[in-house]
Amino acid sequence: MFSLWIRSYKDLPFKTYQRAQVFRYETKATRPFLRSREFHWIETHNAFDSKENAFKQAEEDMETTKEVLLEIFGIPFIFFERPQWDKFPGAESTFAADTLMPDGKIIQLPSTHIISQNFTKAFNVKFTDEKGKENFCWTTCYGPAISRIFAAMISIHGDEKGLIFPFPVAPVKAVIIPIFNEKNKEKVLKETEEIKKKLIKEKIRTEIDLTDKNMGEKFYFWEMKGVPFRIDLGKKELKEKKATVFIRHSGKKTKEKISNLNEFILKEGKKQLVELKEKSENFFMNSVSEVHSIEEAKKQIEKGRIVKTEFCSVLMTGYSCAEKIEKQLNASVRGTKLNEKEKPKGKCIVCGKKAEKIVYIAKSY
Ligand SMILES: [Zn+2]
Repeated sequence: MFSLWIRSYKDLPFKTYQRAQVFRYETKATRPFLRSREFHWIETHNAFDSKENAFKQAEEDMETTKEVLLEIFGIPFIFFERPQWDKFPGAESTFAADTLMPDGKIIQLPSTHIISQNFTKAFNVKFTDEKGKENFCWTTCYGPAISRIFAAMISIHGDEKGLIFPFPVAPVKAVIIPIFNEKNKEKVLKETEEIKKKLIKEKIRTEIDLTDKNMGEKFYFWEMKGVPFRIDLGKKELKEKKATVFIRHSGKKTKEKISNLNEFILKEGKKQLVELKEKSENFFMNSVSEVHSIEEAKKQIEKGRIVKTEFCSVLMTGYSCAEKIEKQLNASVRGTKLNEKEKPKGKCIVCGKKAEKIVYIAKSY
């Protein structure tokens, strides 16, 4: 289609995306979110007039990844340039965001690829430049890996009580639990409705729990669902004009003026994201160990850590060393850390040749 749609430099950059529900043919190794039978597939595909502009797009993709993954979902990651043997098929370079799950396995989240002119040459996708000269386009593609982002969010932020949703993406941001008897039922419910109305006005998605579960069951249920704030409202609260607010991620309980609930939740919601982010960043950054031998690497990887070490080459000449790591450590070479000029000093931990790169190795999904 690109060869029909693109004619001249005026058509460039050409940016498009496709989305579809996809069904996996094989069903043996599926897992919820990580590798589901049916998944929502989104990919961008872009064409440019130069390699430079293709790289600019990859940079923009990585910036978008940061804005969403870190700033909204609170998930830390490292962008790696994948070794030559682990690229997207047909790509010249693959840049992928990896994060670490609590079980010590890496998961790949969004990835962006410089396809270069490989596909445009195969499919005859040409453009005429300003001087009337024909050339093949340079293309890129980007996949955000939506369902795996959800998997990472659930695993990284959740605890033994259940989910913890980052405030910006919580489907329900606050839940109100009215506590009443036959005598004050009407009064309590009326106040609960008022609070809900005010919260919804501020785009704080709120629900009222009117089920006939007992209090303990209600508390347990909403904790498990990961709702960031629970507001308890009963006789005592009405009298004091202060609601009891339970904050899911910290487990803290506080009293807050009913008239001030909107501001309180908006402010605390921002704080919640910052705290979730800090906690997960600390875990991630403290999980990297620098090692200088294969035995050390093995020890650290078995502890569920990422290792940073000297490696001969991320070109195809290093492939046999990567295969040995795969076999001996049951782990994979994730690549070189992007935008950091990490210079190795010693020797490749596998073959002992002079190391050209610092790579990161970990178990992965
Ligand atoms: Zn080597």
